[in-house]
Amino acid sequence: MTAHFRTPVSQVDPLISAALSGEKRRQQDQIELIASENIVSRAVLDALGHEMTNKTLEGYPGNRFHGGGGYVDIVEQAAIDRAKALFGCDYANVQPHSGSQANLAVFFLLLKPGDRVLSLDLAAGGHLSHGLKANLSGRWFEPHHYGVDPETEVIDYDALERQAREVRPKLIIAGGSAYPRAIDFERMGQIARLVGAWLHVDMAHIAGLVAGGVHDSPFPHADIVTCTTTKTLRGPRGGLILTNNAEWFKKLQSAVFPGVQGSIHTQVLAAKAVCLGEALTDEFKVYAKQVSINAKTLAETLQARGFRIVSGGTDTHIVLLDVSSKRITGKQAERILELANITANKNAIPNDSPRPPEWVGLRLGTGAATTRGLGAPDFRVLGGIIADLIESAAADLGNEVVGQCKAKVAQLCEKYPVST
Ligand SMILES: *Cc1c(COP(=O)(O)O)cnc(C)c1O
Repeated sequence: MTAHFRTPVSQVDPLISAALSGEKRRQQDQIELIASENIVSRAVLDALGHEMTNKTLEGYPGNRFHGGGGYVDIVEQAAIDRAKALFGCDYANVQPHSGSQANLAVFFLLLKPGDRVLSLDLAAGGHLSHGLKANLSGRWFEPHHYGVDPETEVIDYDALERQAREVRPKLIIAGGSAYPRAIDFERMGQIARLVGAWLHVDMAHIAGLVAGGVHDSPFPHADIVTCTTTKTLRGPRGGLILTNNAEWFKKLQSAVFPGVQGSIHTQVLAAKAVCLGEALTDEFKVYAKQVSINAKTLAETLQARGFRIVSGGTDTHIVLLDVSSKRITGKQAERILELANITANKNAIPNDSPRPPEWVGLRLGTGAATTRGLGAPDFRVLGGIIADLIESAAADLGNEVVGQCKAKVAQLCEKYPVST
């Protein structure tokens, strides 16, 4: 039996072990520009791989359904206290297994089937958990979407206010997955109160920027806030729910458990506590600032090469590139970047085709590469590489340029190793 406790995965399961090793090498050998990704610390990995995963626990600190929860109580209380301190709010639920599940719990708390929800359109950068027809949120509630101004590609708050007066939603959702500009939470809070709606801010992408003081906080304007602990917050895969509303809090606790979840992912909870502790440091503020500087540098570099950036720039970690002027699709751009070991993803841009293969957006994000240590000069190099690759795809010069770019990417990867 002791072999059970001792034999490493390389001996127990060669197939999975090889995939794990391959993935680790891929992360070293590629520059990661997928905006929802990041690279967690050794400390976060230690917590994720810990025996705490063996502990089954339901309920909340001091009120559990199982015994033996003393150490998890310490971890959960620390995560709660750190989340409250980091985001400046009164209450935090740190149990959601993901960002989507955090949103589901908020809907379960605040909405009845058929209630109206007003959220950012997917094509303008919204998220599928905000009312896509194929998602429970779009099936059980009545989704309405606001977009961006067709000229500026920035949210038109006056138009949003008019729409909110018309639709009279119960919930207005702010936030998205591919919206590169700062969001005016104060104005959105005013609009929500004007029409008797609640404001739910889903800051999944920008939580690390909020934590680091690079983006305005949703508090005190939002009634409820959700986020992931992945993405710019640089933690494990999971979600948080935050609020200042004392009356909601008890109901929120039961909306998460037993509302939409069962037992806690105890080892993830420990990793969340670690990442929230890291995000409270001055070092993290420096990181968040660099993420933003790098994104601006990348956008400017691409603009100087004649590319169009959706909304004309960025206030976050996201640069949304419109590749249509180069006569290729986002998918083709994604593919040629990958040939040179840069990972990014195709994305819809405002007024894009409804068919993903025809989308002309390429979403780039600076969170992960900034963690590796890349600074503004490196992002200037990277922007040049991306421009060369996309132009070569358009001109069908493929192979030669890809080879040259791949060598330059390899140099960057070597200079900034992912693990020591
Ligand atoms: C990523 C994201 C989510 C979903 O998070 P998962 O952990 O992938 O479920 C929810 N909302 C927004 C705005 C996101 O960007």
